[in-house]
Amino acid sequence: MDFEISIEKVKNSRILEFDTENIGFGKIFSDHMFVSDWNGEEWTNHRIIPYGPFTLSPATSAIHYGQSIFEGMKAFGSTKNDHDVLMFRPEENAKRLNRSAKRMAMPEIPEDLFLAGISKLLDIDRNWVPRTEGGSLYIRPFMFATDDFIGVKPSNHYTFAIFCCPVGPYYNKPLRVKVEEEYSRAAPGGVGFTKSAGNYAASMYPTALAQAEGYDQVLWTDSATHKLVEETGTTNFFAVFGNTIVTPELTDTLLAGTTRESVILSLRSMGYQVEERKLPIQELKDSLAAGTLSELFITGTAATLINIDGFGHNGEYFSVITQGNQNISTQVKTFLDDIKLERTADTQGWIIRI
Ligand SMILES: *Cc1c(COP(=O)(O)O)cnc(C)c1O
Repeated sequence: MDFEISIEKVKNSRILEFDTENIGFGKIFSDHMFVSDWNGEEWTNHRIIPYGPFTLSPATSAIHYGQSIFEGMKAFGSTKNDHDVLMFRPEENAKRLNRSAKRMAMPEIPEDLFLAGISKLLDIDRNWVPRTEGGSLYIRPFMFATDDFIGVKPSNHYTFAIFCCPVGPYYNKPLRVKVEEEYSRAAPGGVGFTKSAGNYAASMYPTALAQAEGYDQVLWTDSATHKLVEETGTTNFFAVFGNTIVTPELTDTLLAGTTRESVILSLRSMGYQVEERKLPIQELKDSLAAGTLSELFITGTAATLINIDGFGHNGEYFSVITQGNQNISTQVKTFLDDIKLERTADTQGWIIRI
């Protein structure tokens, strides 16, 4: 389907303010954004406009009742051609946004419109894609309820928008994670599988407590027993036992990461065995003691693939990094980076070129 997208460009680009040597994460925004409105019946008024504030009623229902969902993806500069911008599996983000929308009683967005909006925006802001080592353009599609009505019911009106920020690496060292035994990120029947705003709000207090103890992140466990690994709340989790890699099976309490799936498929194509199953904390401890746990790592679009230094459980710290050699995580990270940057052929059909 073809969508009509109106375009209003900035009078003066801010690109010269952008210090490519010192990018950071999520502090600078590219010149333009894409916006579309749900009028109660359909998505209308698709437009690219200068990046800038929205005007909202104090009664905006997203603020009060949290109908607010988002996605996160990245665009990369091709190493083959200075002009080309590459997206990695963006249709997966479109599908996941719609799974989130359905659960939160929000309107779905046609995948074609999602992809057309991002493609047009990337085309216009292509100079904002960093071409420095480890740099990329983070893309943030999101949707929120805009009715100014103070009753608990699904809004009739929504805004869908996309903006971009040039980013460098999110984490640059192996992480210390705390196995969470008191708080829960998600429960069966809940919204843990969605990228909805409230999930992240709920994680901040337990994360702050863990950080005060010297950890970088919380490793969430199942809400019923706190004995099974789930994920970190922005990334999925992998454990390497020799040539077998285990990641928790998907349930409605886990976010189905695109990086997670890409890592699984890549590892299998490299000849490793990957198991998606329940992963008890006790198994991590036992195999660490037996010397059979070689690496732990986490995966996500923002963080990419980062090793775990060790995990805290019950007040004790279990160091993993001293045992392993980060062989397999390094191999799969390189495999994926080479596809994303077009250093190797995209045999999987994961890349869309702008
Ligand atoms: C976004 C996210 C991930 C990672 O998903 P990717 O598609 O790989 O970026 C993992 N867990 C949670 C809770 C997330 O929000």
